[in-house]
Amino acid sequence: MSHQIAVVGSSNTDMIIQSARIPRPGETILGGEFTMAAGGKGANQAVGAARAGGQVTFIARVGDDLFGKQAIEGFRGDGINVDHVTRDTGAPSGVALIVVAADGENSIVVASGANGRLSPADVKKARDAIASAAVLLCQLETPIETVQAAVETASAAGVRVILNPAPARTLDDGLLKHVSVITPNETEAELLTGVKVVDDAGAARAAAHLRNRGVEIALITLGARGTFVCADGISEIVPGFKVEPVDTTAAGDVFNGALAVALAEGKPLRDAVRFANAAGALSVTKLGAQPSAPKRAEIEALLAGK
Ligand code: ADP
Repeated sequence: MSHQIAVVGSSNTDMIIQSARIPRPGETILGGEFTMAAGGKGANQAVGAARAGGQVTFIARVGDDLFGKQAIEGFRGDGINVDHVTRDTGAPSGVALIVVAADGENSIVVASGANGRLSPADVKKARDAIASAAVLLCQLETPIETVQAAVETASAAGVRVILNPAPARTLDDGLLKHVSVITPNETEAELLTGVKVVDDAGAARAAAHLRNRGVEIALITLGARGTFVCADGISEIVPGFKVEPVDTTAAGDVFNGALAVALAEGKPLRDAVRFANAAGALSVTKLGAQPSAPKRAEIEALLAGK
């Protein structure tokens, strides 16, 4: 079985300001330090997967500008195949403005730029990379028709699809039927299912709803508490790891990248989720999206209790 992972998704440059708290609408506050870092859900997940030990091909669009060039250099540095990262002369690279509060909470606005032009034709060009992968990993920060084309391509080739349904939105059953594993957080699960996820019973109901709509495995991420796992014969929480949070940006992305690696390697579901929980926990101990994605050795050390 191939251990290759294809990631279809967004790449952004994140502009991060650390602040005592998130400003209210209409309010201006003085923040602290400014940092620029590579981000975007697709790119974060690609980097998360590569550092966790996966052989990753990333399918994306960046602008023909300095941010796009830097992003591609970063992917290469992590050993990611960038043959299908297109430099688009018609739109700037994606940018995200992020405020990180002292308690680790964040608030984000994204200007999609070139990400909004990632098309079904781009997916078609990358068909061989998707069809030869063990796992396709997608999110919702690129056009939905592109996500649909990617999941159909993977599903037709018998490739397992992990969909991280973020940012939150509703989805058709026509897309969900191609998804093997869905990984919403509590907010996303609520928007997708209409079920309030305020306790374990709510998580169980939302997960069961997603399985009834054709998804094989529903994993609802619960922040520090870990992940609710719902699959054939399994309905339980796989607990998270205790860490001191610094910045929760990209915890979900790092979780998904690591999950893709563990599933591509054929780890049993609970072990795969534990591996992903460990990666997610390590990511919240560092500032920034891609800078916070841990290496395989760090994940294994946490799993071993070191
Ligand atoms: P998102 O970042 O998409 O909102 P979550 O906050 O649920 O997603 O985080 C995804 C995963 O990352 C969780 O399931 C958990 O494994 C890990 N994680 C997130 N926050 C923490 C934390 N404070 N402590 C330990 N692990 C965390």
